[in-house]
Amino acid sequence: MRISRKKFIALAGLAGTSIILPGSNIYPYKKGFKGNDINGKASITYRKIKLNLGHTWTISRGSTDFKEDVFVFYEKDGITGIGEASHMTGAGQNAYRTIEELKRIIPVYLEADPFKFYNLTDKVNEEIEEISPAKAALDIALFDWLGKKLNIPVHRLFGLDPDKYVDTSFSIGFDKPEILKQKVQEADPYKILKVKLTNRDDEEIIETIRQVTDKPIRVDINEGWIDKEEAIRKIEWLAGNGVEIVEQPMPVSMIKETKWLKERSPLPIIADEAVNTSKDILPVAEAYDGINIKLMKSGGIMEAFRMAIIAGTLNLDIMIGCMIASSVAISAAVQLQPLARWLDLDGSLLISNDPFTGSRFHDGHWIMPEEPGIGVKEMPVSR
Ligand code: MG
Repeated sequence: MRISRKKFIALAGLAGTSIILPGSNIYPYKKGFKGNDINGKASITYRKIKLNLGHTWTISRGSTDFKEDVFVFYEKDGITGIGEASHMTGAGQNAYRTIEELKRIIPVYLEADPFKFYNLTDKVNEEIEEISPAKAALDIALFDWLGKKLNIPVHRLFGLDPDKYVDTSFSIGFDKPEILKQKVQEADPYKILKVKLTNRDDEEIIETIRQVTDKPIRVDINEGWIDKEEAIRKIEWLAGNGVEIVEQPMPVSMIKETKWLKERSPLPIIADEAVNTSKDILPVAEAYDGINIKLMKSGGIMEAFRMAIIAGTLNLDIMIGCMIASSVAISAAVQLQPLARWLDLDGSLLISNDPFTGSRFHDGHWIMPEEPGIGVKEMPVSR
């Protein structure tokens, strides 16, 4: 394209300045920019909210009918990013412990330049080495803030395709046969069922469910099988009964037996308890076909993305899973949906008093929010 000299000079002059057009998504990067210095300090608050479950929830570790999650609000420049800490029930985690952990890592986030998020997890891990949903809550709040600040949804920060989705499974907790059938019927809007097996009456549970539905079933053993010969027999039986994947069949410590199982299994074997963060993947890569990435295990979105990259190089497929949680944690996980071969994001669908709205569930799958950040809003109703 030819342009006049006069126009060229005008454009050259403009090139030396930062121009932000009205409605533009471009953020004015300035050399020497420090997030906290230019636009003021960050503040962080948190709040505990009780989430009621639609059904009492039973897995091999125990039962519960409510849970308390801790919500984090990262505020800076008049923008608030929201995060959620959703602890694993029955794993020594609870809201009080989460709050204590939050207090330890909030100073790291108050000091941090939010735009330098890549290595923030290292600084957080210096404070708390172990798995903590408090880490995830702060990370999610920060990414929500970044997205809102840049006026883009979080998935765009990672270059993901928002139109790529898979159906999510919906979890059916262990119960008596009549209640199981009722739960399956209530799960009508969902196209795939995930069934928690407890090593007691496994075949009976599947047969009961098969009396009322022919939907694909995924099973989660939560480390419940300890005999590899019995495990392979069960998997072969499950494969003949419309089960498509098996999650964490054996204890994490039984890696050799799990590898033996994987080599013979007609169904993909997925690691859940065996893999929390990126450093756990390589040591178990030969024993599994895929890994279940959960923000509450990884410590947030940044580490989950790192895990996805490593899994890809090791030919492991990705499941994205969740704890029972509100729309905050689920909408954050949905941002990474395009990375997943299998999706198990039903946490907010299992609670009856979601205090937030976020990703919309439609026709068996989650629709990627187009709003900036993770795309959630607090419900104006009282709790
Ligand atoms: Mg699991």
